[in-house]
Amino acid sequence: MRFSKTFVKTLREAPKDETAKNGALLTRAGYIHKEMAGVYDFLPLGLKVIENIKTIIREELNKLGCEEILMSSLQNPEPWEKTGRFSDQEVDIWFKTELASGGVLGLAPTHEEPITELLKSYVSSYRDLPLYVYQFQTKFRNELRAKSGILRGREFLMKDLYSLHTSEEDLDRFYAEVEKAYERIFERLGIGDCTFETFASGGIFAKYSHEFQTFLPVGEDTVYYNADKSVVLNKEVLDEEVMADLGVKREDLQETTAAEVGNIFKLKFKYSEPLGLNYIDEENAQKTVYMGCYGIGVSRLMGVIAEKFADEKGLVWPETVAPFKYYLVGIGENGIRTAEEFYTGRETEIFFDDRNLRPGEKFADSELMGLPYRIVISDKTLTEDAAELTNRQTGETRLIKLTEL
Ligand code: ATP
Ligand code: MG
Repeated sequence: MRFSKTFVKTLREAPKDETAKNGALLTRAGYIHKEMAGVYDFLPLGLKVIENIKTIIREELNKLGCEEILMSSLQNPEPWEKTGRFSDQEVDIWFKTELASGGVLGLAPTHEEPITELLKSYVSSYRDLPLYVYQFQTKFRNELRAKSGILRGREFLMKDLYSLHTSEEDLDRFYAEVEKAYERIFERLGIGDCTFETFASGGIFAKYSHEFQTFLPVGEDTVYYNADKSVVLNKEVLDEEVMADLGVKREDLQETTAAEVGNIFKLKFKYSEPLGLNYIDEENAQKTVYMGCYGIGVSRLMGVIAEKFADEKGLVWPETVAPFKYYLVGIGENGIRTAEEFYTGRETEIFFDDRNLRPGEKFADSELMGLPYRIVISDKTLTEDAAELTNRQTGETRLIKLTEL
């Protein structure tokens, strides 16, 4: 991609109302555009980051045999009324809208009810189970606090996976597979060493749910962890009984802030029972389906990764999520010509700063935008048939022969 050919421009200053670091940097670097508090657009480079995150999640889920779908945002109140979740007393985060022909629709804040309803049309026998479906979908939530950039949106991207089973054992088996898949996902996203599976409140049926919490100064959650971080628990479940359960003592635990990037939940019959998602077992008896649900905050992850790795010069993307691996700059007549030649055929890997600007401005933008490596080809490096390669994260620079490059 050529810098000169995209409409995106970098900004020297962040918008005044953008107080979160992730929001400010991603806006300045041209990845996102703010519509209003908690509502953002993804620009070409930002969309690439989102797509890279989705690809990693998709690959890991497909390995488990999950099938991808895309459900609607507009929601018929009916199934939500059956579970009591359309009422503003129960759930106050709905965006609701009047239907021109009368009645009310909602914009989905999550999809347990509609997926349960949908699968009623396809599941009738034990032979149809287990099954696993997921989607990448825009959720709408009327969040009270939306001041954390893309960490908390009123409109945001979520991956939500739902699993259906004939037994608790099978739900447990799949839940454990998802735990491992999530670990691989966060590892591949570059946040494996700061993201921990965390005990959280489980609701009525299971004792705990599990969150995946990335330790982060601006994270909105408070978690407690032991020395080797083998036990991490959300503040909401910190009590004597839970600590005894997990074999830890209060004095062994340290407190920190974290951002919830995902969570997994054994729903059991929570939605299948009120909505009537049943199947016929081998003895011809009607049974209720066991369910699990598993979320990942896709747009929040982009913000978490931005926050986590940024330095005083700007963003620093892990290679796996970076929109391009290389930022290319040519300096001087020969440098620019050689850079052009080098770029040709490598357009998908290289972001080529071919603008007619001073090198200093290009270097500043390369640091702001945070691509993993910068390649500079100048008349000077060409005297050694080489280019200068700079690692954005370490700042380390070396000359590398063009033939090796
Ligand atoms: P939180 O406690 O942060 O509000 P939640 O418990 O409401 O999260 P879920 O409803 O389980 O979260 O959603 C699944 C995932 O979606 C969360 O783990 C989080 O990563 C992400 N998420 C939730 N709310 C938002 C939001 N308003 N903006 C961006 N991502 C969100
Ligand atoms: Mg929430």
